[in-house]
Amino acid sequence: MTSSDELHKRRASAVARGVSSVISSYVDTAAGAGIRDVDGNTWLDFASGIAVTSVGNAAPRVVAAVQQQAERFTHTCFMVAPYESYVAVCEQLIELTPGAFEKRAALFNSGAEAVENAVKIARHATGRPAVVVFDHAYHGRTNLTMALTAKVMPYKHRMGPFAPEVYRAPMSYPLRDGGRSGPEAARTAIDVIEKQVGGPNVAAVLIEPIQGEGGFVEPAPGFLPALAAWARDNGAVFIADEIQTGFCRTGDWFASEHENLEPDLVTTAKGMGGGLPIAGVVGRAEIMDAVHAGGLGGTYGGNPIACAAALAAVETMRELDLTTAARRIGDAMLPRLREIADKADGIGDVRGRGAMIAVELVRPGGIDPDPPAAAAAAKACHEAGLLVLTCGTYGNVLRFLPPLVISDPDLARGLDIVERALLLP
Ligand SMILES: *Cc1c(COP(=O)(O)O)cnc(C)c1O
Repeated sequence: MTSSDELHKRRASAVARGVSSVISSYVDTAAGAGIRDVDGNTWLDFASGIAVTSVGNAAPRVVAAVQQQAERFTHTCFMVAPYESYVAVCEQLIELTPGAFEKRAALFNSGAEAVENAVKIARHATGRPAVVVFDHAYHGRTNLTMALTAKVMPYKHRMGPFAPEVYRAPMSYPLRDGGRSGPEAARTAIDVIEKQVGGPNVAAVLIEPIQGEGGFVEPAPGFLPALAAWARDNGAVFIADEIQTGFCRTGDWFASEHENLEPDLVTTAKGMGGGLPIAGVVGRAEIMDAVHAGGLGGTYGGNPIACAAALAAVETMRELDLTTAARRIGDAMLPRLREIADKADGIGDVRGRGAMIAVELVRPGGIDPDPPAAAAAAKACHEAGLLVLTCGTYGNVLRFLPPLVISDPDLARGLDIVERALLLP
């Protein structure tokens, strides 16, 4: 077996520097919440490949479905010769997303592509240009989605010009906006929208119900419903980007359910495919069907192997009741992390829902972001064999996204490592 050191040398002269990795160990195999690298080291996974392997890595049903589908056929292009699994995945999206109204869905390859298509659909359906997004938002790395994403480094630096008609409104961020209530924060955002964009120009209000890359920011209660109501009253499409929060991650099938939101459109990807690349846009039939035949699509969107994986992932989520599993993970993590926060100086906030949990690291005595502390804690976790990620506009948030199938002992072992890492001098 080639060692990680050797692979890292080969990589340096083959892989573009712009594509970086969190750890420098190379993966040999992975299963459930465990990863083994090519040197025989084992890792406990609190990252899930960025909230993707919610059903566990190489989940048995997903593996079997992929194998069977690969033997039947690998690709025909749904736009050329259609097949059942694409239709079945759309049916699942319609059934699982909030809202009892008539819906339609379409499938794509990546989250960014789903967001791009949701914006295309909203613009087409409304005949309006403007898209409203929020501070700390992350929606992807393509040209339009870079414009929608807030953070410049590393996502946008020297990569413009960006797509026009994108407007940014302030976000509800309880730690950093003086603890404004959700309705108050929404009034501020709506004031910006009305003064700087104008309701009749807004095609879509696009928001993550809990922000992912931006720092696991959970808006104050009432913020999202007030924005959704404003969108409805102004004829704008309310799009929930549930790419990171969806498919059981936050303890519901979709995070929008928490405040009984019924978004007009929902974008999904990540956990949806059980590890295979697939994404979707689902929502109100009259909005989705506004687009003319041939106006949506792509060569690989809803590839049959990815569709088989998505159907198997959803079956696994139902069978193992992974919404409940996610809630149990949150119920175990939050009190434990709050205990740690009481003992450590630099933890400004412990937050999250279900299995989407974070600690925000600050300079002692205030809320000034402390990115070196987050980097040091992540490094200490990595050295102890726990794979964790950081995030946040300021890079000072340590985030935890364990697979929802993680065992109680593995979860406890991971939290022990996190505790030691956070209590480092
Ligand atoms: C990851 C992510 C995206 C982009 O998905 P890709 O598959 O990486 O293109 C978009 N929105 C949110 C909320 C995400 O977390």
